[in-house]
Amino acid sequence: MNPDDLITLTKDLVALNSISGSKNETGAFNENGVAEYIFSYATSHGLPTKYIEVPDGRRCVAVMLPGTSRQTIVIIAHHDTVGVEDYPSGTNPFEVRSDGTFLHGRGVADMKSGIAVALGLLVDLRNEKLKTSILFISSPDEENESAGMRTAVQYLGNLKKKYKFNYIGALNVDSLLEDETQEKTKLAILGGSVGKLLPCVYVEGRSAHVSAPYAGISADFIGSMLVSEIETNPRVGEKPSRNSVVPPPSLLKLSDFKTDYSVEIPLHFFAYFNYLVFETTPREVLQKLKIIAEKSLKKSIEINFSRYLTFQKSVHKPNEHRAWERNARVYTYEEVYETALKNDPYLDQTIHTSTDTYAHLDLREKSAHIVQLVSKIARLQTPFVVLYFAPPYYPSSYNANSPFIKTIKNVLQKYEGTSGFRFTYSGVSEGPEFRILVT
Ligand SMILES: [Zn+2]
Repeated sequence: MNPDDLITLTKDLVALNSISGSKNETGAFNENGVAEYIFSYATSHGLPTKYIEVPDGRRCVAVMLPGTSRQTIVIIAHHDTVGVEDYPSGTNPFEVRSDGTFLHGRGVADMKSGIAVALGLLVDLRNEKLKTSILFISSPDEENESAGMRTAVQYLGNLKKKYKFNYIGALNVDSLLEDETQEKTKLAILGGSVGKLLPCVYVEGRSAHVSAPYAGISADFIGSMLVSEIETNPRVGEKPSRNSVVPPPSLLKLSDFKTDYSVEIPLHFFAYFNYLVFETTPREVLQKLKIIAEKSLKKSIEINFSRYLTFQKSVHKPNEHRAWERNARVYTYEEVYETALKNDPYLDQTIHTSTDTYAHLDLREKSAHIVQLVSKIARLQTPFVVLYFAPPYYPSSYNANSPFIKTIKNVLQKYEGTSGFRFTYSGVSEGPEFRILVT
């Protein structure tokens, strides 16, 4: 397909507002408009096309170019975009403008031009006799919770089971990046990408009235100690290596469960962090955080105690025994769950029933409420900290030894002047979801 046709296709796709999760005046997801465009474009070019329905009403669209074997390469794309708040008033983000070098418009680079390139490729190859099948899938919700990709992965898993598809590799045609490791500007071709975990902390303090604060300890106080130990601390994140460097963990939210004003000290706290990895496993992250949480819990109790001693001295009162300090402990969710299961053999059902109450909540808040419930069933003594993970989870993908990636690297040598190759990418991608299927 010639470049002008690709530009026209990109402009048509950008003209369709598909801001992630947004809806039109009839209440339908805007993203579905792009899925429908891709569907009719592909079918009008004689390509077998199918919708994959996402449970929330959005749609993925799959286009197949059948080869003569079960060997299949998957090309993945997403048809949602981020919002348009950053566009100056008076400009139309859905109208593509050219400045002579670049095209500007919401989603041009991320990633409607990628969809155009993939569709152009399918159209160009449709009359070739291919040994390997090519399956193109475009999904919604990439900029949010990856609802589309999660549905697509299940669909691909079913194809593998039913028709013995052999996925040899996946290409993600997402946004263009410059390869900053090169002196001259080159486009980066990336052979893998970073994984993302969302470690969370739930803290339960010990109840006290503000008139006698040393009778207990604030969950917010313990939590803030923990947050300050973790926030952007390179020692907590993955160690950089020659091939992979990830930014340190960052706090994304902290909150307590207080809904209105009260003079009780805060009892329930939760926080979660963005945590990027190439090689560290979730278990290793938990082990690392457990050590930090134990240190922080101990430190917050020590500070609380030393302030208590100072206060008692200043008012000439004797010190009282604070037996609750001995109860302070850090648990993983797994440990709390096992204990709770002994007290409630129908624990999973209890959790499911109670989650209906939290159905309206954000997934992170929902997770914190589940942890609170399970801790209660486990009858943990306060104060305590629970470490767990909440969605989203993106596995990492490090493919230095993959034959598929090695082949791509070799082919790219022909285009030495314009593109650079790296095995790792420190931005989050949906691509690694496919690793589960390929390996
Ligand atoms: Zn993207």
